[in-house]
Amino acid sequence: MYPRVTINEKKLYENVKTVVEMAEVKGINTLAVTKVFCGMPELAQVCLNAGVKGLAESRVENLVRLKDMHAEKTLLRLPMLSEIEKVVRYADVSLNSEYETIKALNKIASVTGRQHQIVLMIDLGDLREGVLPEDVDAMVEKILKLHAVKLKGIGVNLTCYGGVIPTPENLGELVAIAKHLETKFGIDLDVISGGNSSSLYLLEKGEMPEGINQLRIGEAFVLGRETAYGNAIQGTHDDVFVLEAQIIELKEKDSMPKGTIGMDAFGNKPVFQDKGRMQRAIVAIGRQDVDPDGLTPFDLALEIIGASSDHMILDVTQSDTPYKVGDVLKFKMDYSAMLKLFTSAYVKKHIE
Ligand SMILES: *Cc1c(COP(=O)(O)O)cnc(C)c1O
Repeated sequence: MYPRVTINEKKLYENVKTVVEMAEVKGINTLAVTKVFCGMPELAQVCLNAGVKGLAESRVENLVRLKDMHAEKTLLRLPMLSEIEKVVRYADVSLNSEYETIKALNKIASVTGRQHQIVLMIDLGDLREGVLPEDVDAMVEKILKLHAVKLKGIGVNLTCYGGVIPTPENLGELVAIAKHLETKFGIDLDVISGGNSSSLYLLEKGEMPEGINQLRIGEAFVLGRETAYGNAIQGTHDDVFVLEAQIIELKEKDSMPKGTIGMDAFGNKPVFQDKGRMQRAIVAIGRQDVDPDGLTPFDLALEIIGASSDHMILDVTQSDTPYKVGDVLKFKMDYSAMLKLFTSAYVKKHIE
């Protein structure tokens, strides 16, 4: 049945192992971030088999899918006040930046008798989540007065909103803040969490500051690339996940629509280039399932020329393959395409 995403388990294992070992050499543990594949347990298991120290998810619904996995689970997105009970039930650790939320976690942890750990996020310039450096001391002082939650460590997230690249300076600042907290409050922090796949290039360059002991990795595992500069990581694969979609129409048609051009299905006024007659294929997948800009056909002679909710149109004129109705086209995907493909209930997931 199509459309489907085929996942090569062996290649995923090799990607994860390569990155895990890269980090381990520098004394750094990795958490597998499972959100891009919606916490699919079979794939989380592959990550654990390849040596990750725990699983990390941004959504409680996906943590529920992972509830039977034997691994420490971290909630990546700051908890909503409306989901505190589930957070304590399904996550061992959560990333936090708001005292009110931490206090609510403490309350539920103390009533349920479940231990819950906190990683305090610090904003070092990317302007997504995190306490500002000047407010860290006051926050930690308050957290340490709560008895049912434990401050496991501190962390940073970069290159997400602001595109800020991790450097020896900003990650060094995180380590310095951790040391300062340990001295000032007489505590031990287990974790100094130095970011996501965008921090990996520092490992490759040998510039990761001493003291960073955890990275939270998603994209590098699934696509085999670091995300500060988008470079491939040696020894990894970029085709672990492959989209397959079936041709439902194949005809020679004009490249220019005929008639007065109004709006397309999404309210945009499309513009066209006259390339004369072309061989056009329609495959049964659309914007409800995928971001077409994030797909690359395996057959490099094909060009995606448009998509509506349920149809994607390709120019197949230049290809040597004599395509016909019923043939299946294969595509590589980027992160945003993968995110949508996994979220779409119409796309089957097939592990091989
Ligand atoms: C998504 C996410 C990650 C993983 O990012 P990748 O770029 O996929 O490695 C790490 N930390 C947090 C807080 C996240 O939200």
